[in-house]
This record gives sequence, structure tokens and C-alpha cells, in this order.
Amino acid sequence: MTITAPRGTKDILPEEISSWQYLETICRSLFKRYHFSEIRTPIFESTDLFDRGIGDSTDIVQKEMYTFSDKSERSLTLRPEGTASVVRSFLQHKRYANLPQKLYYMGPMFRYERPQAGRFRQFHQIGLESFGSADPYNDAELIALCVDLFSELGLNDITININTIGCSVSRQLYSEKIRQLVLPHLSQLSEDDQRKYETNPLRLLDSKNKTTQTFLAGLPDMSDVLSQDSKDHFHQVLNYLDELSISYTIDSKLVRGLDYYTETVFEVTSASLGAQNALCGGGRYNHLVESLSGPPTPAIGCAFGVERLLSLLDLSTFLYNDPLDVYFVPLGHNQRQVCFKLVNELRRAGLKCEVGLSDSLKYELKTASKLDSKFAAIFGEEEAINNLILIKDMKNRTQESVSLSNLLGKVST
Ligand code: AMP
Repeated sequence: MTITAPRGTKDILPEEISSWQYLETICRSLFKRYHFSEIRTPIFESTDLFDRGIGDSTDIVQKEMYTFSDKSERSLTLRPEGTASVVRSFLQHKRYANLPQKLYYMGPMFRYERPQAGRFRQFHQIGLESFGSADPYNDAELIALCVDLFSELGLNDITININTIGCSVSRQLYSEKIRQLVLPHLSQLSEDDQRKYETNPLRLLDSKNKTTQTFLAGLPDMSDVLSQDSKDHFHQVLNYLDELSISYTIDSKLVRGLDYYTETVFEVTSASLGAQNALCGGGRYNHLVESLSGPPTPAIGCAFGVERLLSLLDLSTFLYNDPLDVYFVPLGHNQRQVCFKLVNELRRAGLKCEVGLSDSLKYELKTASKLDSKFAAIFGEEEAINNLILIKDMKNRTQESVSLSNLLGKVST
């Protein structure tokens, strides 16, 4: 039986790679302008990091992590998201001694979810984290960056949903209100929602379960329990966004799936995507660094889903078009040896070359044309004796023998 890629994963084939590289290049250039620097962390970390960082009550920690023991019985987990790893690194290398720090990452994440269109078990995120300031300016700056990215990619059909979930005190107060409302109906809740009720009632707000939503119908607005500081913070974020005429939708039900968020949370969705319509999620996490035993460090971050972003781009712009400069056709063993050296020289000079090893001129010329090579360089016994090489212009169908010392000059024109 042939072995296929595991469910929920996919190969990124050479034909697709130029769109990935295009997206990465756009991001790198944009992030640089916003003064973010790249960080690369390991793909697996101690399981503890995610348990403590993402939070026990989250779906990720409860059911979606790829956790395994290594030979020393250490529990390790393939990273399900990037923030916890970046914070771990930030602490390990005492980056807090030099604030602010603006970091970005790109790479695969792993979650054991039910695969469907736009949802994978290995997917890729491009994420940003900004440490060291609690100022609403940073919240707005990050959202402005998202808007710039979508605009550079030519994506117009997007909505920025934004909310504040306040400080930990207001979150607790609001959680209590949710519990009071739901308590009389607890047994009617799904198992999943009962767990949310116990561990993080705020998460019931974005429950997809209609029955749960009916029990929450009488819930006052979160703004009723927000502290004045939280209200002011949110108000200022919105003011900054207004300054740039960035449109947004305030969604009081938006709480986001991770426990570490405080104050501003946001999500960018696209109407052109199906059920999995979130392109980017983010928010402030002012206590995460502290909860992982670091000094109090306010921070904010967000992450884009690469597969979903790419699915919205017009891929016809990235047609796989990667022609060769020279396709060498050595005929005979000795000629092959000389070609080995010639190819090497041309590659070092910056040309893209390949060598056909079949000894059949007809077959290799066909291959040269299939590979869309600009030139075929034929090197047989006779050419070898005369220190020449036959250069065939594959487009114009002309050919000319040139001396070996003139080869580079001829094919680089
Ligand atoms: P999150 O870390 O859950 O806030 O997700 C941030 C972004 O990553 C989402 O908005 C999606 O675009 C993307 N994403 C999250 N989970 C998946 C998944 N299982 N498959 C594909 N993309 C995902």
C-alpha cells in the first residue's frame, strides 16, 4: 500500500511555492517598515509551556495538542500556536532587559482538529508579537499593519471585528454574571459547554450551540462591568483606527479561544472564505509573560493563517514559470566530465543550468525544450577534440559552435 501524507496535512509542491514565497516577501518587507524583527523558535516545546501559557480550559490544550514523550520520558508538544514559544524565548534570553521588542515569526503549527476546507492539522501561521507597552497606540498600530498587509495583497473583502474583554477583574465579574445566568440550565448544556462553564465561562459567548446562546440572551453588555481604564483604553484604540479611517465592527461576543487575552481582542474575517472565515486573530496579553514567571510585561500580538490567505490570492499571477538558461547535453563519458566543470563555472556565474545524462541527443533536446531552456549546449566527441561546444538557441532554432572559453559570454547574452 502506498503511504500518503497524514490526514489534515499537505505537501506544498514546487508549482505552489512561488505564492508562498511572494506572501513571505511581502510580509518581511512590511514588517520591517513597522520595525519588527524575525525570531525562529523550535517546532516542539515542553508540554508545560502550552498548558500554562495557553491555558487548561482552552480547546487547544484540552483536545488538540500533539503531545508525545521523548526517550527521556520528557513530555513534549508540537507547537499549536506561536505566542507561547516566543514568550518562552523572550524570557529565556532576557529580552525584557531591552524593551520594547517587536518580533515576528513564520512557520508550521499543529492542532488535532477535524480537517475540513481551510482547517488543517498542520497549518502555517505568520505572527507578530510586540512586548513592553500597554499603550493603546500599539493595539492600533498592529491592526493598521494587518490592514496594510491585506491591502498590499489586494484583499478588499475583509472585516475587522474588535472587542474588549477588559482587565482580569472585569473578566471575573463578567464570568460570574454568565455563570449566574447559565446555572439553572447547566444540565442542558453540551458536555463541551459545561466544561467551558467550569473553566472559562467567557468562552460560552462564542459557543456555536444555539441552546447555550438562548440561555445567555439576558446577559448585560460587557461594557457594564468594564473598569474606566479598560473603557478608556478601548476608546483610544478606536480613536487611532478612526484617525486612519480604518473601518471595524465592534463585536461584543468576540472573546477568542485563548485564555491569555486581556483588553483588546480582534479577528479579521473574509466573506470570500467559507465556514472557516478567520484570516487573522489577535489581542493583548498583558499578564502572559508574568504567568510564565517573567517580569510584568504588557504585550500584544496576532497571527495570520497562511493557507487561508493564499486561498484568497489570485494564483494565476504565480504561474510556475522557472526556465533554465542552459541545458547541457554531454555525449559520452569524457565529455560528461568536462561538462561537469563547465556547468559548475556557469552556475557560479549565476546561470541556471541542468545536465542531461542519457547519451541520446534526440531525447535530451526534447527535454531541453520541455524545461523551457534558453539554450542547449551539446558537447560530443568532435566538439571535445576541437575545444568547441555547440550552442543551440531553443527559441530561434539557430545554432553556433563557440570555443569553450567563449561559452559564458555567449550564453549570458
Ligand atoms: P488562532 O491562533 O486560533 O488565533 O488562529 C490564527 C489564525 O490561524 C486563524 O485566523 C486562521 O487563519 C489560522 N488557523 C487557525 N487554526 C487553523 C487550522 N486548523 N487550519 C488552518 N488555519 C488555521
